[in-house]
Amino acid sequence: MQGYGDIYRCTRCGFCQSVCPTYLHSLDEAQVARGRVHLTRLLLEGKYDFTKDREVAGKVDACLLCGACVAACPAEVRTDDIMVAARSDFAANRGLRLFHRLVYGGLLSRQERLARVSALLRLYERTGARGLLYGKTLRRALSRLVYFDSFLPGGLSRPARAGLGQALRPAGKPRIKVAYFLGCASNVFWAPTVRASVAYLLSRGAEVSFPPTGCCGEPHRGAGDLEGARALGLGNSGLIFRGEFEAIVTDCPTCARALRRYDWFVGADSREGERVRGLAGKVMELNSFVAERLGIPAGGLRPVGHGRVTYHDPCHAVRGLGVREAPRAILSAIPGLGLAELDGADSCCGGAGAYGFTHPAMSGRIAAGKAARIARGGADLVSTSCPACALQLGAGLKRAGHPLPVRHPVGLLAASAGLCPGGGEP
Ligand code: SF4
Ligand code: SF4
Repeated sequence: MQGYGDIYRCTRCGFCQSVCPTYLHSLDEAQVARGRVHLTRLLLEGKYDFTKDREVAGKVDACLLCGACVAACPAEVRTDDIMVAARSDFAANRGLRLFHRLVYGGLLSRQERLARVSALLRLYERTGARGLLYGKTLRRALSRLVYFDSFLPGGLSRPARAGLGQALRPAGKPRIKVAYFLGCASNVFWAPTVRASVAYLLSRGAEVSFPPTGCCGEPHRGAGDLEGARALGLGNSGLIFRGEFEAIVTDCPTCARALRRYDWFVGADSREGERVRGLAGKVMELNSFVAERLGIPAGGLRPVGHGRVTYHDPCHAVRGLGVREAPRAILSAIPGLGLAELDGADSCCGGAGAYGFTHPAMSGRIAAGKAARIARGGADLVSTSCPACALQLGAGLKRAGHPLPVRHPVGLLAASAGLCPGGGEP
């Protein structure tokens, strides 16, 4: 049994109760870090069985891996990593969930299939099928389908990778040579944001390469498929090492956090682990790279047609990478755009990768709470830095009858700099 590190450090103090989204929306002791750690200890001690206790597997599976408990825990218990270890042992004994086998193993590990699914989704958006779903009678009958449909942002375009080629050079001599790590969700669902961000990097003198990497592997790791995560970690790091890049930039904080922890993915003590540790120092989340390495221009920016923006902190950015100031500095630099802080800006939105699909009831409740707080704050624009959060927030706001655009700070900065009018708008 590996990965359970500090499980016996939990003192049962209960500090995690006030921050755990699944506990706050269920008031179920088995759905908070303390309860989950306790259940996992009982598993390790043989009082529950990894091969047959489905209810315990469900509690372990329902953790968002948001890390809020880790940040609040005085004993520094890493419940998120303990949950991944437990999922891995459940998977070894009972097999991976069908959803994870189909979507992570069958799609995210096979980028050519993902591109085909993206084409089908675009077809679905553009034909009458979507309109049918919203007809009153069918809507009631197909409420679950309507729920899943709400995640589609509308105006889905071709995957970003299709139009980027291998590398793009800025006008003039490059200031810096970067690899842009293109995550699955950004590629398929956030292509306009990727294009806007790349346009901004080029305008600030960066030469941007696009190594043909696959999924970062974090969805596989989160599902307990450690072998799948290791294979992707080895493949991606091999591709990135081939180029002489000064920085590895990604618009997805989950990918950034995974790339920084690739030694953990491939085995920290292995020969590969030592090799991939060299990557970690070069990996930067897009906002931090723009604010800290390229700099935000002091002038030449114009309004973007919105008056009040609120920012949602993705878990993997704020707690995984410590990114809090950079996106706010970018948004504050845009003329005419007031930044209204959101109550609970850094609480998980309930997106957590594919959590909205595997746990729609809990995910929907968390999203509804977030949407209500956004609506109360009076913003006419929402910004976040994670494609999965953007889909979840967009869907939650739509279902709450308060549809607002959701944009990446750098997409908005690109619009403000006159590089792409929509700023990441489909
Ligand atoms: S805050 Fe940490 S030590 Fe306290 S109950 Fe939660 S997991 Fe255990
Ligand atoms: S990682 Fe998030 S959902 Fe999981 S126990 Fe901790 S606070 Fe709760």
